[in-house]
Amino acid sequence: MCGIVGYSGKRSSSEVLLQGLKRLEYRGYDSAGIAVGDGTKIEVIKRTGKIKNLAAAVPDTVAGGFGIGHTRWATHGVVNDLNAHPHMSADGKIAICHNGIIENYLSLRDKLISEGFEFKTETDS
Ligand code: GLU
Repeated sequence: MCGIVGYSGKRSSSEVLLQGLKRLEYRGYDSAGIAVGDGTKIEVIKRTGKIKNLAAAVPDTVAGGFGIGHTRWATHGVVNDLNAHPHMSADGKIAICHNGIIENYLSLRDKLISEGFEFKTETDS
């Protein structure tokens, strides 16, 4: 279980995402994170613990009109900043959040590693 929030609009997305995550905190309280985009880049900030830890780590300079946020209830991989969601693709173009479990993640992971992909986290996501 987790909480996922998304925003696209005229307001500062980091503010809206943090407000949304606060309301969803009961759905996952291991860690939380946001990915914010401005059309040229995506910035990801993640922290273990409560949403207030994440809020304290988000700099005022994080700007962007769209983004996603996640509160994690870890199923695969220890609770740490790295395993918190969102997760970023290697090329920095895609950020994802995931709710639930990918049952066959080990065989998928092995196949992708054999094709040359590198994984930075321990999650099934
Ligand atoms: N299985 C994923 C993880 O452990 C997602 C857990 C969740 O739904 O919060 O990171």
